[in-house]
Amino acid sequence: MSSTVVHGRVVPTGLYIDGAWRAGVKTFDVTDPATGKVIAEVADATGTEAVEALDAAAAAQDAWAAWAPRARADLFHAAHRLLTERAEDFAVVMTAESGKPLAESRAEFALSAGFFQWYAEQVAHLHGTYAHGSPGGYRIVTTHQPVGPSLLITPWNFPLLMSARKAGAALAAGCTAVMKSAQETPLTGALFVQTLHEAGFPAGVVNLLHTTTSPAISDAVMDDRRLRKISFTGSTGVGSHLLRKAAGNIVNASMELGGDGPFVVLADADVDLAVEQAIVCKFRNAGQACVAANRIILHSDVAAEFTEKFLARARELRVGNGFGEGVDVGPIISERQRDRVVRLVGRFRDQGAEVLLGGEPVDGPGSFFEPTVLRVDSRDRELCGEELFAPLAAIYTVASVREAVEFANDSDYGLAAYLFTRDVSRAVAIAEKLDFGMVGVNRGIMADPAAAFGGTKASGLGREGGHDGIYEFLEPKYLAITVDETEAIGA
Ligand code: NAD
Repeated sequence: MSSTVVHGRVVPTGLYIDGAWRAGVKTFDVTDPATGKVIAEVADATGTEAVEALDAAAAAQDAWAAWAPRARADLFHAAHRLLTERAEDFAVVMTAESGKPLAESRAEFALSAGFFQWYAEQVAHLHGTYAHGSPGGYRIVTTHQPVGPSLLITPWNFPLLMSARKAGAALAAGCTAVMKSAQETPLTGALFVQTLHEAGFPAGVVNLLHTTTSPAISDAVMDDRRLRKISFTGSTGVGSHLLRKAAGNIVNASMELGGDGPFVVLADADVDLAVEQAIVCKFRNAGQACVAANRIILHSDVAAEFTEKFLARARELRVGNGFGEGVDVGPIISERQRDRVVRLVGRFRDQGAEVLLGGEPVDGPGSFFEPTVLRVDSRDRELCGEELFAPLAAIYTVASVREAVEFANDSDYGLAAYLFTRDVSRAVAIAEKLDFGMVGVNRGIMADPAAAFGGTKASGLGREGGHDGIYEFLEPKYLAITVDETEAIGA
């Protein structure tokens, strides 16, 4: 097995197919976005290896589906223990390749491992139904079966969380998996499948590909009728493309896509609480989160107070290398993305937005951008509704609750919304009106293995986690069983 050392941690660099690591014909570089330096070279899969990974997943499918729920739960518990022993390896490698502050990597690790605990518990508790057939004479028995070999595609912004949340559900359900890491963050995925291997997941049950040519992988695997499921997390554009591909072979699809989270602060809100939560919800992972506060919508009665306090807190944020002591905001994932943020701020300026803080890239190595706060009067739908994905807070002011709700809902996306008010009745009434899959009431962080994560509209299809997540990888199976009491027992 070829491996490399990243900040003192040994990480496999190959492709993981059928329980073994193998080199690729080519390799590609992994770069630390905080320094711009190459930290590893990993195998670069082609469509050929993708089909080989699917061969392995298809061959392992029946045996894996037949594992007793308790045995599968025990394996998940073992994986959870092993993951936990390697917590710091994961945190360090995540910070090295994604740039996020070490404290955030540690928090991501804890949440990710929690999904293995959650699925260990859930897989032992799946149930079916039993009922009498409508006209009598038979019984209706329903159970669930794994959908089958699944393609799991993850983004770079939460490399372990996205892998653990998807693979946890797929594997717990009894599906085998071909995972495709994001090009920017292959090392975290490698540590993840290595840990599953050591925990005892059988050969072929989980496979991992890294690549610079994602379309070649998805084309090869999705054109193959053995693939029964695609679960994708990433941008809405790519998700839409993959849905069209899935339509070809009528492949079951779950999509976790982009967001445009409104963060609504009403006149009766606890402003200090709203400010603290907005700082986390906006600047965590340098704003590169699908559930980040994209439009901070303030009632005019609290707009001045919120803005002043928010600016004071944003000024305190320390930008720097994620390994640095006390660093709050790491780099943007790549120079290309940093340049996109520069252009985005320019577009806001052109629309008359006032830059209250920051607004510029940071000089030097690495792709950093200043924590930025903009006051925006425009309601240009294209600009205001764009996913910022940057340490860029856009503040809007509204004059009424109704205007706040209408503006919040005026979006193609429907992932996460946030609402700050002290009035519980109003909170419930508004939460029900918000066309989003998740609503945080007086909190800016919601992720929890026990909660169903996902969105409406262009934010996707299906849910991950909670009681629903595993059912994305299960299909109902109905048995109609003839029962003739008279013949069986006698008159
Ligand atoms: P992206 O869509 O560019 O890439 C996501 C993944 O898809 C990567 O692994 C990439 O290599 C792969 N990919 C790209 N084109 C592909 C193709 N043709 N076939 C197969 N795979 C392909 O997104 P990104 O920039 O990496 O991530 C940011 C996006 O992800 C944002 O829009 C964000 O909101 C979204 N996201 C959503 C969630 C969620 O749970 N809803 C979570 C995290 C990120």
